[in-house]
Amino acid sequence: MTCCLKEVKIPLIGMCKNFRRHYIMNNFLTIADARKGLKNGDFSAVELIEHYLASIDMHHDLNAFVTVNHELAIESARSADVRIARGDDLPCLGIPIAVKDLFCTKGVRTTACSKILSEFIPEYESTVTSNLLRNGATFIGKTNMDEFAMGSANITSYFGPCFLRYRRKSDDSVRLVPGGSSGGSATAVASDLCVAAIGSDTGGSVRQPAAFSGIVGIKPTYGLCSRYGMVAFASSFDQAGPMTKTVEDAAIMLKAMAGHDCNDSMSANIEIPDYQSYVGKSIRGMRIGIVKEYLDGLTPEFLAVMETAKEWLRDSGCEIVDISIRTLTYALPTYYIIAPAEASSNLARYDGVRYSRRSEHADNIEDLYVNSRSEGFGEEVQRRIMAGTYVLSAGFYDAYYAKAQKIRKMITDDMRDNAFSKVDLLLTPTTPTTAFGIEESDSMSPIEMYLSDICTVAANIAGVPAISVPAHLSNDGLPIGVQLIGPRFSEDVLFSVASAIEKSAAFSDLRKSIRIV
Ligand code: GLN
Repeated sequence: MTCCLKEVKIPLIGMCKNFRRHYIMNNFLTIADARKGLKNGDFSAVELIEHYLASIDMHHDLNAFVTVNHELAIESARSADVRIARGDDLPCLGIPIAVKDLFCTKGVRTTACSKILSEFIPEYESTVTSNLLRNGATFIGKTNMDEFAMGSANITSYFGPCFLRYRRKSDDSVRLVPGGSSGGSATAVASDLCVAAIGSDTGGSVRQPAAFSGIVGIKPTYGLCSRYGMVAFASSFDQAGPMTKTVEDAAIMLKAMAGHDCNDSMSANIEIPDYQSYVGKSIRGMRIGIVKEYLDGLTPEFLAVMETAKEWLRDSGCEIVDISIRTLTYALPTYYIIAPAEASSNLARYDGVRYSRRSEHADNIEDLYVNSRSEGFGEEVQRRIMAGTYVLSAGFYDAYYAKAQKIRKMITDDMRDNAFSKVDLLLTPTTPTTAFGIEESDSMSPIEMYLSDICTVAANIAGVPAISVPAHLSNDGLPIGVQLIGPRFSEDVLFSVASAIEKSAAFSDLRKSIRIV
């Protein structure tokens, strides 16, 4: 009898478990969905994490993750299940979140995808990751990225490139890059290897890969998310930001990450609004600026997407206003002077003497510095250090760095006086192109690569928030994102308008027609 019962019971449990996995697998779960599912007992946090860990293993070829600690992730999910059973209700409780390998995670290797940090295990947790942990998140692993967050294609990583799962309709043999530098986080979210991810954005590294990958990415106002424990690239631009499947998830996650932190001297001491309540709010009467400078040189395909997005906003009751911000034409060169200058200073600390990797080929201290840095940094990072050192050098400081700082001030003032005094938000494309092929990106010159950031850098220069929302598919079947930029601390409004675009675009349906291999 016992034996018989057992026979009946085992397959039933098996079926049930399979059904749950099937459910998780087929639903491209958002944070909001996963929270509901966990609360209702549709699946457990352990089942959720096990499913995603299996998906990561299955899609190893995408190279989205550089470190995955199965035991740690399952352990964390197990304790989330205990807390859920106890009735705890936190915004990210039991939600599998991926972390860009730029954020220090206590006891878990943090490399910035550089050889020089390839053995670094932090003794402490970054503020944004500890805020997420406090809000119940389960970290599934550390994601691939361009070395030290310098790049737009995720091809400069010490661990090799990361790939998009998508292919062009016209040629499915071309392997595409997810954009960068947060390429691993973008691919992880877009390929459903996690529920959501953290990225960082110094000149577009959350928004550009989000646009290439058909997901949502927001760079918050400078100072909203603490930079403590985030490997520094260009400190006056660096911001952490959520990369998610929906606008609502970005709102939930940003609230869970943000907040004042005395460990970051630039951290804003403001009350963080309940961003989620702004999702789906009426945007009637809002004035949306279309910036002439961002339309110049855009392909007809991208111009058409902009026209459609304008129509959606008009239909939602917004007024569309054409504006010009003339200094924006200087944004890219300004960024590519200031960012390398700050990087050259920030990266001076990696000398092989303290915590970074030390060269084994040195007989004296001079060689130790030179060889550790030459062996430890990749080509693009060395290029930025050289450029940064040059623009800061005594003979060229005034001509480059000091001038760029003045132009930075002009761009910031221009945005305030000629944009945000007239309109509530700006609508722009996020990128000028769709995702490029890995070989195409290998043959691009550094300058061609830098041009990917043409629409994104201004928000970092002015320290204002900007969000990328998937809007359409190109003729070749690849995602195209649009960007909304607002004045400082206008994240709430950004979420309202972004959710209106998301609704009109119905990208969740379009996503199903993207070719995947
Ligand atoms: N692509 C830009 C760069 O290489 C932006 C990088 C970033 O935002 N981290 O500098």
